[in-house]
Amino acid sequence: MKIVDCDYFVVGSGMAGLMSALHLASYGKVTLATKLRLQDCNTNFAQGGICCVMDPSDSFDKHARDTMIAGAWLGDSRVVHEICSHAPEGIADLVACGVKFAVKGDGSWDLTREGGHSARRILHAGDITGEKCEAAMIRRIRRSGVDLRERTVVIDLVMSRRLGMPGENRCLGAYVLDRDSGEVYAIRSPNTILATGGCGKVYLYTCNPDCATGDGIALAWRAGAKVENMEFMQFHPTCLYHPNARRFLISEAVRGEGAELVDKHGRRFMEKYDPRGSLAPRDIVARSIDSEMKRTGDDCMFLDIRHKGARYLKRRFPNIYAKCLSFGIDMAKDLIPVVPAAHYTCGGIQATTDGRTSVPGLSAVGECASTRLHGANRLASNSLMEALVCARLTAARLGPNPERFAAKPKIPAWRTGSAVPPDEAVLVSHMWDEIRRLMWDYVGIVRTNKRLARAAHRLRILRREIRDYYFRYLVTPDTLELRNLAVCAQLIVRCAQKRRESRGLHYTLDYPRQAKTIRQSVLPGFRSR
Ligand SMILES: Cc1cc2nc3c(=O)[nH]c(=O)nc-3n(C[C@H](O)[C@H](O)[C@H](O)COP(=O)(O)OP(=O)(O)OC[C@H]3O[C@@H](n4cnc5c(N)ncnc54)[C@H](O)[C@@H]3O)c2cc1C
Repeated sequence: MKIVDCDYFVVGSGMAGLMSALHLASYGKVTLATKLRLQDCNTNFAQGGICCVMDPSDSFDKHARDTMIAGAWLGDSRVVHEICSHAPEGIADLVACGVKFAVKGDGSWDLTREGGHSARRILHAGDITGEKCEAAMIRRIRRSGVDLRERTVVIDLVMSRRLGMPGENRCLGAYVLDRDSGEVYAIRSPNTILATGGCGKVYLYTCNPDCATGDGIALAWRAGAKVENMEFMQFHPTCLYHPNARRFLISEAVRGEGAELVDKHGRRFMEKYDPRGSLAPRDIVARSIDSEMKRTGDDCMFLDIRHKGARYLKRRFPNIYAKCLSFGIDMAKDLIPVVPAAHYTCGGIQATTDGRTSVPGLSAVGECASTRLHGANRLASNSLMEALVCARLTAARLGPNPERFAAKPKIPAWRTGSAVPPDEAVLVSHMWDEIRRLMWDYVGIVRTNKRLARAAHRLRILRREIRDYYFRYLVTPDTLELRNLAVCAQLIVRCAQKRRESRGLHYTLDYPRQAKTIRQSVLPGFRSR
């Protein structure tokens, strides 16, 4: 079996992965694997912008306080202060890559404001901030000497204990699958950095791209790493509901400009839930839409902004207007079908701000990591900031003082046993659909003990079936994703079952109040129990 050696092995090509690799490139050989093309990641879809205190009237303390409030005080205030105060260095890294953030006529930053922020502190590049950042980082990384491996899927981490090596259980690299040739080989490295993003795809409706299957979280957990706070999945209230419109968000600004949430008969329903009506905060609107969908059995609710007229809508929302029209929905004449959609994974692999996990040799950065910045709910535009800052801090730790092998470990060839090529792809797609549907129905925006227990039971059975399928057939990218998705689903349910209160994004009818004590939901890794 082929073995590729490197000093640093980075998995993922979003903001966290590309920035980690760029920083580490000056310290040694970096190999970066990503399961599709470099630009296929959540980062590329980020719209609003990146938080960073830039205005003299604003302060890191204010930003930290807003972050703690949004996170329902579950965040770690030391972590929150550290990340907020390092944001300017992260922004400088992006500017050095060539990102041009919007500026005003006088040349100062054009800072915008989003829900939950007490000041204007969001840098943006129009409404395609993520795309602009991703393009600039890709241009830079192609010239950096990093060994880039696109369409390369990490299957599992190689752990010293599984190889029967004495001493602590260390990560030695990973087995990877080349999507094009079907070859499985190993990447051997004393420093593996997971930057694999979140697991929005675990839910039926999500605005995340297809790669968001929680691979890194599942890989790390299987390797023995601690995972935490997975119950906190952020849902965006208004994702366009149309069979061909995958992951298109209808911005909150549409409600800001007067759109009302209505049912299929055009009746307003938000006033039943909150006196602020359609302008209630994101989590309340998402819960109300979910409640109406469950009550009526309808597939979606609607936004009504017809009263504003075509001229105004085309001028104010040119992109959304054109997108809706391309699906046959004229915002000036039709109701816009919307559903809440899984948006951001607040929990993940337990990690420090400089990427350290509970497993030696393994780091985690970005959305796959839980640094305790977000607490029980992420403040808008804090995630790209976290990825930037933590990539920088992780490289500052690992660059000058990398882990090293005393002797190169022997990695055995990938064994396929008696596995045969899969002959019924329908089994995978069926199990995939079942997980996403049951997570949506039982572990969605509003939870109960009964629904969680039902989900836990079904997931136990599904994981057994998936394990059986996994060993019977040769690995494919789809089976790998399904296996990881099932693990993430189970981790979400377990964390949710541990939390006997409603806090931030976790809302349960059985414990509707917030508890007085602050408690993180920490799960031990699979092998460490
Ligand atoms: C529609 C949308 C709008 C958003 N808007 C904003 C915003 O305005 N501001 C903000 O701060 N945040 C925003 N977010 C959130 C933000 O985009 C993400 O949190 C952030 O981009 C995560 O970066 P990351 O590098 O951790 O992961 P990602 O960008 O998701 O990258 C993960 C990478 O890992 C790779 N990968 C995964 N598994 C494997 C595997 N097994 N093998 C190899 N490679 C693998 C993927 O292919 C991908 O390249 C938005 C998200 C969405 C979906």
